[in-house]
Amino acid sequence: MSDANAGLRAFRVDGQVAVITGGAQGIGLACAELMHEAGAAVVLLDCDTAALDTARQRLPQAQAQVLDVSDAAAVEHVFADIARIHGRVDILVNNAGRSIRKPSHELPLEDWDAVVAVNLTGAFVCARAAASHMPERGGSIVNMASMMGLSGGGLYPNVSYHASKGGLVTMTRALAVEWAPRGIRVNAVAPTWTRTQFIDPLTRSAELMQRIRSATPLQRMAEPQEVASAVLFLASPAAAMVTGAVLPVDGGFLAQ
Ligand code: NAD
Repeated sequence: MSDANAGLRAFRVDGQVAVITGGAQGIGLACAELMHEAGAAVVLLDCDTAALDTARQRLPQAQAQVLDVSDAAAVEHVFADIARIHGRVDILVNNAGRSIRKPSHELPLEDWDAVVAVNLTGAFVCARAAASHMPERGGSIVNMASMMGLSGGGLYPNVSYHASKGGLVTMTRALAVEWAPRGIRVNAVAPTWTRTQFIDPLTRSAELMQRIRSATPLQRMAEPQEVASAVLFLASPAAAMVTGAVLPVDGGFLAQ
């Protein structure tokens, strides 16, 4: 007998172990809440202990743990712990990210290194650690890139962010190819400006908000839940044949 809901069920992740870095707030927390709703056992990792405390209250079913993704040794330990507690890792959302917005000539090399350490190296180390705990049937990694990883545009100079997210886009494709034989799919989403504390200075400026509207065909910024929907799709069995893809959630910005 055919199962009328089998197609829709492919969008769920029942029983899967989903780890979300930078999961304490913003887009990461929206991903965590949606993954939980879709049936996953969720683990939140974040370096901000106060934000993690608040996240614990919002999503008490999740395991929440402090981790700085730029500390490679700590990453190995934490993923080994998760595998010990949950038996494996099925899904990784590589979402932790930071930005230091300065013109190139005023950007100290330490600032460049700090951004790359989180957005690119941190994502690589987490991907490798997660992959080593994925079951034989494989798993799924979704990297949080940005439309700025595919464009040099934007509202202000932000070269370390552009470069690190561009690196993350290419890393997504390289790992997708390398790990396809192991059944590990690696994809990315590339969001537009999204309403979180990450872009607080922008949302407080009427002039910058107007520039966002005029730069975006859909004439608005994204909500964290709209990014999370794309992440869930890529992580879920509904995207079983999708790997190495970079999905813009950008209101049409990159289509121009
Ligand atoms: P956010 O500031 O609300 O959340 C980012 C989280 O990452 C924070 O909880 C922070 O503590 C955590 N984090 C930062 N450095 C970390 C580290 N070293 N180790 C562990 N956790 C760390 O911001 P957000 O908007 O939700 O951003 C999430 C991701 O989305 C980032 O990668 C960001 O680059 C990307 N993104 C955001 C936007 C936007 O406009 N908000 C647009 C495109 C892409």
